[in-house]
Amino acid sequence: MKKHIVIAGGGFAGINLIKSLRNDKRFRITLVDKNNYHFFPPLIYQVATSFIEASNISYPFRKLFSNDKHVSFHMGNLIRVTPENRTLETDTGTLHYDYLVLAMGTESNFFGMENVRKHALPMKTIEEALYLRNHILLTLEEAARNKDIKEAEKLQNIVIAGGGPTGVELAGMLAEMGKYIAQREYPEIKLSLSSIYLIDALPSLLSPMSTVAQKTAYETLRELGVKILLNVSVKDYKDCKVILSDGKSIETETLIWTSGVIGREVPGIPEESIGKGRRLLVDAYNKVENTQNIYAVGDLCLMLSEEKYPNGHPQLAQVAIQQGKNLAANFQRIEDEKVLHSFEYNDKGSMAIISKFNAVVDLPKYSFKGFLAWLTWLFIHIIPLVGFRSKVQLAMDWFRLFITNNPSIRLILYPKKNTNNGTT
Ligand SMILES: Cc1cc2nc3c(=O)[nH]c(=O)nc-3n(C[C@H](O)[C@H](O)[C@H](O)COP(=O)(O)OP(=O)(O)OC[C@H]3O[C@@H](n4cnc5c(N)ncnc54)[C@H](O)[C@@H]3O)c2cc1C
Repeated sequence: MKKHIVIAGGGFAGINLIKSLRNDKRFRITLVDKNNYHFFPPLIYQVATSFIEASNISYPFRKLFSNDKHVSFHMGNLIRVTPENRTLETDTGTLHYDYLVLAMGTESNFFGMENVRKHALPMKTIEEALYLRNHILLTLEEAARNKDIKEAEKLQNIVIAGGGPTGVELAGMLAEMGKYIAQREYPEIKLSLSSIYLIDALPSLLSPMSTVAQKTAYETLRELGVKILLNVSVKDYKDCKVILSDGKSIETETLIWTSGVIGREVPGIPEESIGKGRRLLVDAYNKVENTQNIYAVGDLCLMLSEEKYPNGHPQLAQVAIQQGKNLAANFQRIEDEKVLHSFEYNDKGSMAIISKFNAVVDLPKYSFKGFLAWLTWLFIHIIPLVGFRSKVQLAMDWFRLFITNNPSIRLILYPKKNTNNGTT
């Protein structure tokens, strides 16, 4: 009898697990995901700023695994796990498993601020990136029509909460959008009324990175005109006013939230197996504590057993990829009755792009910045993209866009059914 492995979540962890087991006939694998595609979060900010198409960074699961007879896809949203029956309930049906792997990643954390949750714009999924893209373009149109200076300022101000790599990359891209595109295409807009604010509660940007990276990010963004507010956090967002912890406020229609994440909820998992940030506590082999045959990998899990990472691993793509691969090898070792390998993270470094031709790269032993770092960033972000066509397409698009500064996908599109009688 083939062992049935059900994997909930086809992100970096989930698909790398499947790719490592796809040729092993001892297993039957079902991938469950609420979307029908895999996507690449590190480049989502380029979708939100109309720089690249969503299809550049996403790939349909069914195509990805079309040659793998042991792999099937079930589109559905996880509702609950029932460990005693070994079942996973989704909104589109119930699945039985021999092994269950939870790999659903995280969602935005608004730290209990209800107004921020309701009105801020998160940027974690393709849908959110497309919504943000429409919002930015619509707000620019409104600003172009507006004659009132106060209103125009509110429309043109953008506040980004979170000075990590995503916030920094987004701030740089938006500042360049203003410089290269808004000036040329929106002549009605007074650019002197626009401000991009980047806010972080910590004393520096890119806090987990080296001081070289932090300083470079700070200086480059300041030169691009970004207003950086450190040691300050967002406390509320009401009546189009971002209220800050130092008592000041900024009027804006656009608060972009890149400030924090929390593990996706998995009803049915015992309370005592849920750790800080709602991450699932796992042992050194990624097995969820207090459960049988249930594993968690990637951003969703919290492993405290590795000596170098006593507070858990950083929530990064490489951790998810490596955990997916290690768990796949351990499933094979279970079948072969061999000793399991505990997970050990191989840190390959981190990086962030700050502006055109300028990035920062921290390798385990040294850091560098500038044009070489920028080329490294482009190369490293193309390699893990799924699908040869996506890699070539993105490389060609980037080449053209970085030279011309003129992407042409600034289209405001709302998918909807035409409700008239077809006469127009
Ligand atoms: C904007 C952004 C930029 C980032 N930049 C970087 C970077 O530059 N470098 C880096 O290393 N890391 C970066 N990260 C972090 C990195 O993307 C994550 O660490 C990584 O994606 C985690 O992989 P994962 O497989 O655990 O989860 P994810 O990649 O988040 O995948 C989760 C999957 O689960 C599915 N899913 C979610 N909920 C359900 C449900 N209820 N039912 C069914 N399916 C579900 C989702 O559709 C998705 O396919 C970034 C993240 C974001 C959001």
